[in-house]
Amino acid sequence: MSESGASFAELWESLLPVGRTPAGYRRYSWTPADLACRAWFAEAAGARNLPVETDRNGNLWAWWRGRDSGAPAVAVGSHLDSVPDGGAFDGPLGVASAFAAIDLLRERGFEPARPVAVTAFTEEEGARFGVACLGSRLLAGAVEPAAAAALRDGDGVSLAEAMAGAGLDPAALGPDEDRLAGLAAYVELHIEQGSALDGLGAPVGLAAGIWPHGRWRLEFAGRADHAGTTRIADRHDPMLPFAATVLAARAAAAGRGALATFGKVIAEPGAANGISSAVRAWLDARAPDEATLDGLVTEVSAAARTAAAEHGVALELRRESFTPAVSFDPALRDRLAAVLGPEAGGPAASGPDPGRSEAGAGIPVLPTGAGHDAGILAARLPTAMLFVRNPTGVSHSPAEHADMADCLAGVTALAAVLADLAGP
Ligand SMILES: [Zn+2]
Repeated sequence: MSESGASFAELWESLLPVGRTPAGYRRYSWTPADLACRAWFAEAAGARNLPVETDRNGNLWAWWRGRDSGAPAVAVGSHLDSVPDGGAFDGPLGVASAFAAIDLLRERGFEPARPVAVTAFTEEEGARFGVACLGSRLLAGAVEPAAAAALRDGDGVSLAEAMAGAGLDPAALGPDEDRLAGLAAYVELHIEQGSALDGLGAPVGLAAGIWPHGRWRLEFAGRADHAGTTRIADRHDPMLPFAATVLAARAAAAGRGALATFGKVIAEPGAANGISSAVRAWLDARAPDEATLDGLVTEVSAAARTAAAEHGVALELRRESFTPAVSFDPALRDRLAAVLGPEAGGPAASGPDPGRSEAGAGIPVLPTGAGHDAGILAARLPTAMLFVRNPTGVSHSPAEHADMADCLAGVTALAAVLADLAGP
């Protein structure tokens, strides 16, 4: 194993025990597990002589000053927090790979012409305070600082209290225009949250963009009644139109190459021997583009209305959240594709389907249905993402996995990208 391979393995091994439980990782922001992740970051940076800064929003920055320390910097990293019972790779892989990529570049005698920053963004998963990508949203001015400070976790602790407990000043939360102005690009390496790379036989891919996605709340209101004495013809059972809607959503998504999921449902009053009075459910829908997403949600809504009417059930449907499509900077993406797949010899394909770039031999370019800090920051500066193969295809679970050889391929790719972006 090369020195950088050894450095990645050492970084990785030293982080693995932090926040690990028998059910998976629990690294929620500003908890002891998160503080231990931050200490790991500071130690990794210190061992490399990279001065560490915590910005006003709690995001971490480790600086490799280049020959021109005033030039716009290239930031590279990801996040260290996890979902409840998450896997080891989502987030930390990008941070550990960034440190290891710097080791590899130094091993080769490379000296950056401009500053390189290794970053770890706070509360990317939103697992503690409910807003995903909170650290990058605050940095970019995409969330109101006072509203963020007032967010509370499941125990009623506010973000302001949690940050103050860790020694930060919550009054400083908010957009950081000087910092953004000092950045030329942000590149995030992440484990793939699907198995497209595995299907293509490729260890590393590039992101095309992030699908538009949203959440809709449906409430079917019927009439509570006795399961044993109410004749079928007399029922107003909200579970039936809900069930029809679940099947309709699946069919509507499959027919469009989109995704629709009901992952949360509440039946009231929830009696095992009773017909429900109401069923509340949340539809998560994602599609390659907004027109397709609109079509999908319109079809699901129509199916829900028809089924509700058939069963004499009232339906209320409203959108709770929506995130528009994110296109990563095409020029940056093409530059990375050229660095990582020179044999492709042309610009990367950017269609909705996973596939190789135009010449058929370059790095695969994949869409993703998941949100990331690189997606939030794309509104303010050129950003790009690299994906590392996840043979299980599983995400947000301890079953997510990347082989060590693929992790090292990711480090090598990231080093090539940094050499190009921060090179002479
Ligand atoms: Zn992530």
